[in-house]
Amino acid sequence: MFIGHYGVAFAFKRVERRIPLWLLFVAVQFVDVVWSVLILLGVEKARITRAFRGSLPLDLYYMPYTHSLPGAIGWSALAYVVCRFFTSRRASLLIALAVFSHWILDLIVHRPDLPLYDNARKVGFALWNYPVPALALEVALYFGGLWFYRKGSAGFAVLGAFILAIQVAAFWFPILPTPKIAAVIFLVGYIQLAAAANWLDRKNSGSEPQLA
Ligand SMILES: [Zn+2]
Repeated sequence: MFIGHYGVAFAFKRVERRIPLWLLFVAVQFVDVVWSVLILLGVEKARITRAFRGSLPLDLYYMPYTHSLPGAIGWSALAYVVCRFFTSRRASLLIALAVFSHWILDLIVHRPDLPLYDNARKVGFALWNYPVPALALEVALYFGGLWFYRKGSAGFAVLGAFILAIQVAAFWFPILPTPKIAAVIFLVGYIQLAAAANWLDRKNSGSEPQLA
């Protein structure tokens, strides 16, 4: 999943407005941020495939540290511990849940490549095998979350359209040449989207109080 993860960021921002939106944007993709780094380091492995037109063109055959169930729980727990140094228990818990939400939403769309432990017992409900409903779900999550957080924000609607365009391009057209280049593009993309969310949110909220 890609754009749909940000729906969780918007929803949690509504629940606890003092968490900066950029932090939630990073949290919901944190598992993929670490995945990008581990792909670049050669620790986790993937290969480009043309077999899955209309969904992620990657065969994710080895990602036990980021996308296994214990891995996702571990990254969420780490997020909680680190955030606790800076902010309240409630905000830290929400950020940790945002990190964990990544695995749950990935579970819906991924083909069975999410290990229940180590690199074994892989699960995934494979909605990506049905590209149009999968994309519709992601769009509904983004705009549903946005609507819940902030109705009528043209800036975030434009940002959503932009993310969607990138996702459609990457899923339908062979623009990702190697897993490592894909990892760099994702990493830069996640940072830029968090920065854009921060900019839009500050523009919209004026001087709302923020923690962390
Ligand atoms: Zn993921």
